Amino acid sequence: MVACKMNIPEKMTVRLLITSIFACLLWLCGFLYFSHERTAMEKMHLANQTSGLSMIYNCVVNAQEIGMQAYFDSFVMQPQVLEILRHARKGNEAEQAVQRARLYRCLLPAYELLRERGVRQFHFHTVDNRSFLRFHAPHLSGDSLVASRPSVVMANREQKVVQGFETGRILAGYRSVFPIVYEGEALGTVEISQPFEKFRRMMGKVGEGTEFLISYDASLLLPKLFDEQKKMYAPSLFSPDWLVEDVHQDLPDSPPDLSPKAREVYAGLSQLPAFTRTLAERQPQSLAIGTKQGFCQVTLLPIIDPEGLPAMLLLALSAAPELDEILRNFRLHLLAFTGLVVLVSIMLLLFLRNNQAISAKQADFQLIANTISDGLYVMNEQGVIVFVNESAARLLGYSRSALLGQVAHDCFHQHQDDDGSLLHCPLCNVFRSNTRFQGEEVFYHQDGTSFVAEVASEPLLEKDRGISAVTIFRDISERKQMEEQLHELCNTDPLTKAFNRRYFLEVLETEVQRSRRYATPFALVMGDVDHFKRVNDVFGHQAGDQVLKEVVTAIQARIRSSDVFARWGGEEFVLLLSSTSLESAVPLVENIRENIRSLDHGEVGTVTISFGVTTIRDGDVVDTVLNRSDKLLYEAKAAGRNCVRFSG
Ligand code: GH3
Ligand code: MG
Ligand code: MG
Repeated sequence: MVACKMNIPEKMTVRLLITSIFACLLWLCGFLYFSHERTAMEKMHLANQTSGLSMIYNCVVNAQEIGMQAYFDSFVMQPQVLEILRHARKGNEAEQAVQRARLYRCLLPAYELLRERGVRQFHFHTVDNRSFLRFHAPHLSGDSLVASRPSVVMANREQKVVQGFETGRILAGYRSVFPIVYEGEALGTVEISQPFEKFRRMMGKVGEGTEFLISYDASLLLPKLFDEQKKMYAPSLFSPDWLVEDVHQDLPDSPPDLSPKAREVYAGLSQLPAFTRTLAERQPQSLAIGTKQGFCQVTLLPIIDPEGLPAMLLLALSAAPELDEILRNFRLHLLAFTGLVVLVSIMLLLFLRNNQAISAKQADFQLIANTISDGLYVMNEQGVIVFVNESAARLLGYSRSALLGQVAHDCFHQHQDDDGSLLHCPLCNVFRSNTRFQGEEVFYHQDGTSFVAEVASEPLLEKDRGISAVTIFRDISERKQMEEQLHELCNTDPLTKAFNRRYFLEVLETEVQRSRRYATPFALVMGDVDHFKRVNDVFGHQAGDQVLKEVVTAIQARIRSSDVFARWGGEEFVLLLSSTSLESAVPLVENIRENIRSLDHGEVGTVTISFGVTTIRDGDVVDTVLNRSDKLLYEAKAAGRNCVRFSG
């Protein structure tokens, strides 16, 4: 069998390749997992940021609205004010001018107080949606507000308070427009509006460290503005479509300049596809922006004006140490995981190396096991075959794979006193008793035929306990047969197939010993065919051979299986009658003699035979008993042949 083997550098390359692929895949899995975690945490943080800003904004709006309602109730809903407004409502233009002046004088102190409190505009409107008195621009009045102030139109029409951020012809702001009703009569509306700066400060108190910025949709704002007001607005840093108010900080309530960092971030936002997308979506959302100093976050909160249009955008920018922390954790986890991957990869490499070494050893062992011509198999504690070599498979007529997993005892092994259980199996006893077994067992071939196997079985020890057994066996049927043939050749006469002299002497020796020990008698008979030379001379040697065979057959037919009959040499025979006295032996021998005499040997005719019969005596040895029977035979010859001479 030729094994196709890789050389050592090739094996190392394969190991490295497997380990590298494993490490890369593992690391990629880890990277994807940690990235996903990081993204999820970032998203959660940004969502919290968005909802936090919405909450702050709503709280500030609510607080403002409560304040504006209090101003309205305290300053506007005064009898004097209502009286003025009623006159104005009813009067012509001249009367209205008079009442406008009265109202201005009446509420100027209140307006100044409101200014101190951060109110930007205090603006009365007529029921037909025209400006009646702008406290911040008293000279501008009478113009229609229908196009620029939907909040006024709505408050007049629906007679309800309309509030919200709104752009206007001059400035934008958070407007609270209250309908003025006096004794069931609608007298117009009044607006108390606040600049974004007020909101910015209040929100800043809650969201410390956050820079707030409001911007206005240019497409909605520009058509409303007085032309001279347009210079107050400029495109924002992040988009030309969104304008910022009071760019030159002309107003007394201007918000402070943006910080350099905010400028840098806002300027970079236009390059950010996510920001452009968010801007287009006009949904509240927060974005993480990476800067050299770390992460910051920008939250976009679209603000809906009273008309329901997202005309404004509130932006909040703040540092995001949480995102830095998330990134730090991500890197840390990835680093730790990378270390783990390296460790696992080294272990895998070592494992593969050991495994390959073990596999190589196993392959070598398998090769060795398959090379030997003896069958070899290993059984576990349950008697199940866990290893088997090619020779075992061949000797038993199975494939190796068919034998693996089988209980050897059930499959091919049986022994004396086999009751089907493993308890009496000498091979299974090997690992139970931790002792070696060597002997002959009957094994069964797959085709049902059996053979005698020479078996050696050794326990495989683990912590001094046999946990399995390795068994080597070989088919010795042929050897057994040869041994038997050899035994036969050594002990039988080739012509007559009777035992030969050598064997007879062995038996006689044993019988003499036994007789001496147990005082059991036996008779020894010696016979010689009479005038046999003549048979040869007259009929030829072959005819003589045939006569000898027939004489042997005739004698063997008359004796017991316990008696031993042998050819002593030439035409002489010996017979040992075990447990037989002289009295019993003589008639039997006479009978044999007579039987031979009456045998017809074809052209040879008949032959006769003479016998000397004796029995064992005290003090006899092989030679003495043999000599005695020989002497008696001689006497029989001398007495004329074809007779039996005996002596005890
Ligand atoms: P006796 O009555 O005195 O025994 O006379 P005998 O002729 O039988 O005795 P002898 O000893 O003179 O002759 C024995 C003969 O047996 C001689 C030999 O040729 C023959 N003989 C011995 N072994 C064999 C054999 O294996 N085959 C054949 N055909 N003849 C054998
Ligand atoms: Mg003779
Ligand atoms: Mg003879």
